[in-house]
Amino acid sequence: MDKKFLKEQEAYFLKLMDDIRNKMSNFTGAKLTDGDVVDQCHTNDENDKNIKLNKRMTNFLRKITHSLSQIENNTYGTCTECECDISKDRLQARPTATLCIDCKEAQEAYERCTHKNRAIHQLAWVNVSNKMQ
Ligand SMILES: [Zn+2]
Repeated sequence: MDKKFLKEQEAYFLKLMDDIRNKMSNFTGAKLTDGDVVDQCHTNDENDKNIKLNKRMTNFLRKITHSLSQIENNTYGTCTECECDISKDRLQARPTATLCIDCKEAQEAYERCTHKNRAIHQLAWVNVSNKMQ
């Protein structure tokens, strides 16, 4: 991976981290109101949304931190599965990618297969339990 690209990615990650941290510091949990049940439900929805958003941002920060450590260790852009180079195009589209496109597609195919098998197992279980009744 060329040094210029790594410097650009590093600068991008550092700026992104700052932006995310600023957004997270602006989160103020919606305060409970003295209003009616509808108002309180609205407040609860607002709190739930903030919690979900906060979790998502924390997760993203974790990925960014990992990518920054990969840049420091000279492993950024190397697929963690097959150790081949991840294409620059892929890293520009998905800067925190840790898998090359082939390994990512293989992982997704495996996950689809697992879900499909799970559905088949559930169907088989329903058939068995229906026969037992
Ligand atoms: Zn790979």
